[in-house]
Amino acid sequence: MTIARIQPLTTTRRLSGPFDYLLPPEPVGVGSVVTVPFGRQRLDGVVVDLAGASDVAPEKLVRPTAVRADSVPADLVELALWMAAEYCSTPARALSLVLPPRGRERTRLWAERTAEPLDGQRLTDNQRALLERLPGPAGPDVAALRRLEGRGLVAVGPRAQRRIPRTNAAPDRAVELTAEQAAALEGVRAGGEHLLHGVTGSGKTEVYLRACADSLERGRGVIVLVPEIALTPQTVSRFQARFGDTVALLHSALGEGERYDEWRRLRAGEARIAVGPRSAVFAPVADLGLVVVDEEHDASFKHEGDPRYDARLVAAERARRAGATLLAGTATPRPETFHALPRLRLAGRVDSRPLPPVRVLDMRGAGHPLHPLTRRALAASAKSIVLLNRRGWSNFLTCRSCGKVWECPHCAVALVLHRAEGAIACHHCGHRERVPDRCDGCGSLAVARYGAGTERIEAELREALDVPVFRLDADTAGFKDAAGDLLARFQAAPAGLLLGTQMVAKGHDFPDVTLGVVLDADSTLRFPDFRAEERTFALIAQLAGRAGRGPAGGRVLVQTAAPDAPAIEAAARHDSDGFLAGELERRRALRYPPFADLIRVVASAEAAEPARAAAAAVARAVGSATGERTEVLGPASLFRLRGRERWQAVVKTTERAAAVAATGAAVEHAARDRALRAVSFSVDVDPQ
Ligand code: ADP
Ligand code: ZN
Ligand code: ZN
Repeated sequence: MTIARIQPLTTTRRLSGPFDYLLPPEPVGVGSVVTVPFGRQRLDGVVVDLAGASDVAPEKLVRPTAVRADSVPADLVELALWMAAEYCSTPARALSLVLPPRGRERTRLWAERTAEPLDGQRLTDNQRALLERLPGPAGPDVAALRRLEGRGLVAVGPRAQRRIPRTNAAPDRAVELTAEQAAALEGVRAGGEHLLHGVTGSGKTEVYLRACADSLERGRGVIVLVPEIALTPQTVSRFQARFGDTVALLHSALGEGERYDEWRRLRAGEARIAVGPRSAVFAPVADLGLVVVDEEHDASFKHEGDPRYDARLVAAERARRAGATLLAGTATPRPETFHALPRLRLAGRVDSRPLPPVRVLDMRGAGHPLHPLTRRALAASAKSIVLLNRRGWSNFLTCRSCGKVWECPHCAVALVLHRAEGAIACHHCGHRERVPDRCDGCGSLAVARYGAGTERIEAELREALDVPVFRLDADTAGFKDAAGDLLARFQAAPAGLLLGTQMVAKGHDFPDVTLGVVLDADSTLRFPDFRAEERTFALIAQLAGRAGRGPAGGRVLVQTAAPDAPAIEAAARHDSDGFLAGELERRRALRYPPFADLIRVVASAEAAEPARAAAAAVARAVGSATGERTEVLGPASLFRLRGRERWQAVVKTTERAAAVAATGAAVEHAARDRALRAVSFSVDVDPQ
């Protein structure tokens, strides 16, 4: 081999590699990370292939100028290239997701005894004490140790020191599997892909842990994907409690050094279990035997950057390529997963605890955000969780005289009042301005506030209740560790109320919570999205799953202006089978996933016309390149976002591979069109 095929890591769509380079003096292979001269720039690049010869004239070939010590495992290079095609992205963008993190090992001076002192060697008491404490870090004794080193008694040298991520320690609990858990584990042992559909509190985590132990025993590694780590610290601590240092944690809140060390431990095989959010699907675990996706319904598994990958799908692909078992677990499966994967069922909670009764409260015509029964129940319960999926104080401000609605100047959406900050803010781009005291349109002082968000409910609850209120939403959980600390304080408090957005409905296990409340349960139903029903069902069922997990039992109240909506009725009955059956029927009738695949192309520009023209060009090209099993909808305009006009085309198909290829080609062609220079494209396969 004399040629390395290298993909330079640029973000532009207008360039497609790989390009040929001569081999550098250092050994390289597929996955080596290099620096290459590229035109007048120097770029990072990844070796994607080695070859014996090149079509490029020999005098035009150059060598990489540097090779990094850490490389990408070859199977992850393959996975990234697959991902680039599957998500209509570029190899460069997909490869940047699997790169080793930047960093280097931290070392410190370490001292060890090398020989016993001979009878004639006289030592002071201090020196004897020093020898006694070895081996250990040199620390402040380095000068004294160096002197002992000179006498041949000690060796002092650098030694790698692992930076250990902070986690909540939890003791491991040895439990005996229930009959349902044992049966599920048998199913997992057979290999292949499985949906673990277990009601909240049915002990799914214990099944993951046992499956994990099995895999390790066979000498094979494991990846465990969880929704955001900060919101699911309990799952992580259970893995650490059982498997100790074999577990490496990979998440974005780690310090750079910690992330580097955890990645290295996996790459070197010192750690065999990677636990983390969606990006952990790219963990460098060799000999993969098992991939677990916990809370598979969670929206955080979809990546919003480019490539817009879905970690659940990438996990399945990676497992397939590695011959590993896939285990996706949840109490509220997505219709897609339910339809695609054979199911292992945990129908009951451990200890046969009943699921909490759910009461739906009709809020049509109510004048206050809290129903009287909700107020009474909250006053009577020591520990409760309240979900309201909207942050801020009120939804929007409007002028009572002229009807003006305060909108974001960059996005065509209403600004939300954040009273404590004295600001109205855009939840899309973060734009903020001061709360107006009068209308700048007509001068009126009558500015009305509509709707209630978590900030306002917090104020009301603090006034009405004697217990401490913990608010968990993007405004209070913004900085590192904040969410984890808040959840830990709520857990430790003998009495308290946890209030927040969907963050409070994640897989928390607080056995002393006896009341769950959902406010404005139909808010998610009002989204113009075919997944609105699924989201609403999952949110209510998950919140209900947080209540009554202990011996004291519990109950759930659901406030809604749509008490008859099927998603809400089914959630109140804890009937996920019924919900899924109805939802799949509806999806089949409307030809929505899983009965068809969707691809969304968004063209954006500062001006509307080029964006529209670009979306139209893509729609036309896809339409003419595909057959009757593919339908192209649009172009349609979207609301302006971050100062950019947006137009979209949606491809609906039952011929996924052909439609993905046609869309990828159409976008690539449009991106190269000089007339559309001002336009950026974003392609979303399986949009959420
Ligand atoms: P899920 O993830 O299905 O909601 P968890 O895994 O959080 O459920 O389990 C709920 C609780 O039951 C946890 O406190 C767990 O330690 C406990 N548990 C799990 N399996 C068993 C078992 N076989 N026997 C006793 N307790 C169990
Ligand atoms: Zn006005
Ligand atoms: Zn905005």
